[in-house]
Amino acid sequence: MIPFDLQTPLQFMKGVGPRRAADLQRVGLSTVEDFLYRFPIRYEDRGSFQTIASLRPGVPATIVGEILGCGLRPTRRPRFKIFEMIVRDHTGSLRAIWFNQPFLKDVFRPHQRVVLFGKLELTPHGLQLQSPQYEIVRGDDETEGEVAGEPATARGEADRLEPDEETLHTGRIVPVYEKTGHLTAKVQRTLVHQALGLLPADLSDPLSLDLRARQDLIDRRTALHDAHFPPEGTPVAALNAFRSPAQRRLIFEEFFLFQLGIVLRKRRSEADRKPRSAVITDAIRESARRVLPFKLTGDQKRAIKEIVDDMKRPQPMNRLLQGDVGSGKTIVALMAAIVAIENGFQVAFMAPTEILAEQHFINIRRLLETSRFRLALLTGSTPAKKRREMQAELGGGSLHLVVGTHALVEDPVGFRELGLVIIDEQHRFGVMQRATLRSKGQHPDVLVMTATPIPRTLALTTYGDLDVSIMREMPPGRHPIKTIAKPETRRDEIYDFIRKQVEEGRQAYVIYPLVEESEKVDLRAATEMADHLAQDIFPELRVALLHGRMKQDAKDRVMQAFARGDYHILVSTTVVEVGVDVANAGVMLVEHAERFGLSQLHQLRGRVGRGPHQSYCILLYQFPITDQGRERLKALTDTTDGFVIAEKDLELRGPGDFFGTRQSGLPTLRVGDLVRDHQLMEEARREASAALDDPAQEEGLATFVRESWAQRFGLVGIG
Ligand code: ADP
Ligand code: MG
Repeated sequence: MIPFDLQTPLQFMKGVGPRRAADLQRVGLSTVEDFLYRFPIRYEDRGSFQTIASLRPGVPATIVGEILGCGLRPTRRPRFKIFEMIVRDHTGSLRAIWFNQPFLKDVFRPHQRVVLFGKLELTPHGLQLQSPQYEIVRGDDETEGEVAGEPATARGEADRLEPDEETLHTGRIVPVYEKTGHLTAKVQRTLVHQALGLLPADLSDPLSLDLRARQDLIDRRTALHDAHFPPEGTPVAALNAFRSPAQRRLIFEEFFLFQLGIVLRKRRSEADRKPRSAVITDAIRESARRVLPFKLTGDQKRAIKEIVDDMKRPQPMNRLLQGDVGSGKTIVALMAAIVAIENGFQVAFMAPTEILAEQHFINIRRLLETSRFRLALLTGSTPAKKRREMQAELGGGSLHLVVGTHALVEDPVGFRELGLVIIDEQHRFGVMQRATLRSKGQHPDVLVMTATPIPRTLALTTYGDLDVSIMREMPPGRHPIKTIAKPETRRDEIYDFIRKQVEEGRQAYVIYPLVEESEKVDLRAATEMADHLAQDIFPELRVALLHGRMKQDAKDRVMQAFARGDYHILVSTTVVEVGVDVANAGVMLVEHAERFGLSQLHQLRGRVGRGPHQSYCILLYQFPITDQGRERLKALTDTTDGFVIAEKDLELRGPGDFFGTRQSGLPTLRVGDLVRDHQLMEEARREASAALDDPAQEEGLATFVRESWAQRFGLVGIG
């Protein structure tokens, strides 16, 4: 007999003929492992079915019974079809209906036993189950799944499932799977059961005995079994929360395997050597000190020290600088840039938008005015001629620092000796862009900065191969921003408040959301609002409008005029979201605040509170507002700590939406969930690191990473 293990192709299983195997292949399942690692999406306690007589309207329930009759019911609307079924148990009978699923007439037949899961609804036709989930537990003939006459399997058995396995599907806690190809839940369950039974008793386990003992984890084989067919007495609530011992073990395994790749990637890059490392002399210290416009905070000093220490090492730096909005990351990056340039290297500073790149450029140029360093700005709108000149200078080495957008990543840009890459707001760039920019030098130092803090699990995931510097301290003299949320019916009070603030010498932002689908409508709303504020509400004040559709130089003119104090109020779409820095702005009024994401609101709030005065953030919301919307506003009024807000944002939105980009280095997971299971990631990281230090395990684990990791997690390989 062929040894059966996780790598066995599915078609060697009983009940899977060529046709079904092809069907499974189409949905990405080709081995027993693929199949067994496709876990139930929920569990139903069918150990205790409700009786039909005991059902109450509105309460979800599972019943089992026999079909008395079923069929399509004609309706007056020609294309509208209702499938109706009467089902009976020993306590009574009940009607179930499905709308527009005429194919059900080929699925159900009288006398079949079915499990129905749904809510009893009170309708004009009486009490009925409406579109319940269903499963035929006996009396269907789909067990003949494959066409008759197809060859039997190698073992010479008929290509069909065991008959009457009702005990698998009822009378216990039953796994419910997402539908796979043409497989019904029942067939899938039967196949899973069969595969589990065939697994060798000594199934290999990537988690060592020691590790399992330390982390209190059960072995792999038991975990696989129990995750699909929970042992009697397992609380269904724990299962559905993915907190049973089996699930916890499997989640840990997944995180552990994932972290192996991350740890190896980090170790690999630590084996690289820069052509030369930076040195620090008194002259360089003096050069850096000269450009400093203020005293650094303790956190800034510490971050700079960590960065400079990296630059002095022979290995390339790979560091993430995490700091809240306004914590002063730019100056930290600039200090690193000066060290690099003084050491004869070139520096590339990449920002996600033109506005931001430009603002960095203007700031840095001002700070470096008295230095001999030459810098340039390279964006998509840099004219071709200028771009060519710049490229020549970069190649020749006469340009020391280039600030730019992803235009920097584009092909013809080459450097003479790129020693430091700084990437602002990394999460807006893909992993590939980071790698491409890095490849323009020979193992350059890389410093990545985030716009807002990244929750710990995501940092361990998408930035898991980076060292981290954290700045929690704000520059001195800042007052915490006062934040309030108000319904927009209180608009008049808010306007009075803004008027008073302006009388005290402050300026204000009024922000409009710009949702992509309704860009035109929103733009009109913003434009009308600007007119309304200028003419009706604040005729005595100067009001300006800024939006993304304006030409670059028009935007710059407005922004610069606002920064100079020429306008009292700036009405804007979210283009001011990142970067802009006007210390005198004291009020941030956000219209339709219920529409914004949490991090986005926090970013917007970060535009004020940059000067010595008390600043305010006012969140105006309109009804209807969702529970989530309410929670977001509450989080914002409760705290100004960006680290707390980031965690909350992740909890509310999930990891995919947190970054808002697919290519941000999030792994494809089969059982773990970065939010739900976040506390396991850190332990998994520690254990992965320890396992790779163990010579007995190292080779096998490294082989897994080399051969399977990239595909397994859907990420760029490690090489
Ligand atoms: P972010 O971390 O959001 O990128 P910035 O680097 O833009 O923050 O800094 C925010 C503001 O704080 C800027 O106006 C900057 O000049 C100022 N700033 C930064 N560090 C200090 C400091 N140590 N003392 C005073 N002001 C500072
Ligand atoms: Mg910044």
